Amino acid sequence: LIAFLLYLFYLMGPIGGLVEGWTGLQSGLAAVRRIDEVESLPGEPAGGFSGLKGGGGPLRVTFQEVTFGYGDERAPAHKGVTFDVPTGGMVALVGPSGAGKSTVFSLLERFYDHDGGTITVDGRDIRDWPLAELRGSIAYVEQDAPVLAGTLRENLLFAAPDAPDDRLADAVARTRLDALVDRLPEGLDTPVGHRGVTLSGGERQRIAIARALLRRPRLLLLDEVTSQLDAVNEQALRDVILELAEQTTVLVIAHRLSTVRHADRIVVLEEGRVRTAGTHEELIDGDELYRELATTQLAAEGAEAGAR
Ligand code: ADP
Ligand code: MG
Repeated sequence: LIAFLLYLFYLMGPIGGLVEGWTGLQSGLAAVRRIDEVESLPGEPAGGFSGLKGGGGPLRVTFQEVTFGYGDERAPAHKGVTFDVPTGGMVALVGPSGAGKSTVFSLLERFYDHDGGTITVDGRDIRDWPLAELRGSIAYVEQDAPVLAGTLRENLLFAAPDAPDDRLADAVARTRLDALVDRLPEGLDTPVGHRGVTLSGGERQRIAIARALLRRPRLLLLDEVTSQLDAVNEQALRDVILELAEQTTVLVIAHRLSTVRHADRIVVLEEGRVRTAGTHEELIDGDELYRELATTQLAAEGAEAGAR
């Protein structure tokens, strides 16, 4: 038995390492798959990132009675979602877990096609957009920001390889990554990710945001990206997001009141429908669910961050 237990311990070492590696690999694979999908579409220009170079200005987004189910037995994720994101605006999506917030982003990226209703981007039906152009115009920062195997510089320039040094430096400064760069033995050229320096969740989130900034997207989708940031970095990012809103349309799924209250408009989702929408002040007075979210969920995370 003892021999067996020792054997188990022996096995657990490498497996522990594998599990960590697997997460990185999965994220890497997801990124690769997405790019492949874009590249392999018939009639599309190769590269998938063709939309990155041209500006074109912030995009307007509308959801009109959008319905969508993931195709399993459960209730549909969207049961008629209607809202409008004006050009250059900053709109926050809030609501309980499972309300359908992240699904909005999946549909905008066309990872899935909606079943009913209409989604327009820049006044054009989302299905009429060449996929490469659509995805090239949108930067999507997920909650669990993947760090790819490679140097920090490669990670930052992943989707904007031609960005000049001054823009890289600017993105690094805005996301307060300069302290990290100073700390790393080879600065921007230090390997990070699975085989390199291990980064904190907050650092990974800031890298993902810097990466998105470098792409100069026409629409920026942020899914709970401030969840792992401390109060100082969150403030810095909030400033970045507000500045950005002049050049790009920002749609943010936020878990913190401090992020949400600066939005031009807050859309409250509940069980696959838009419950209500308005400014923070309007909703605090007028909506029970928002008031509850604001005083418990949204505020609690902010307080927690402040205490860290
Ligand atoms: P939120 O981001 O507001 O927490 P989501 O949009 O992620 O909510 O999820 C809405 C509903 O869709 C939930 O019931 C969730 O379980 C389901 N869902 C989300 N993603 C998937 C998926 N990839 N496959 C199947 N069901 C999903
Ligand atoms: Mg979500």
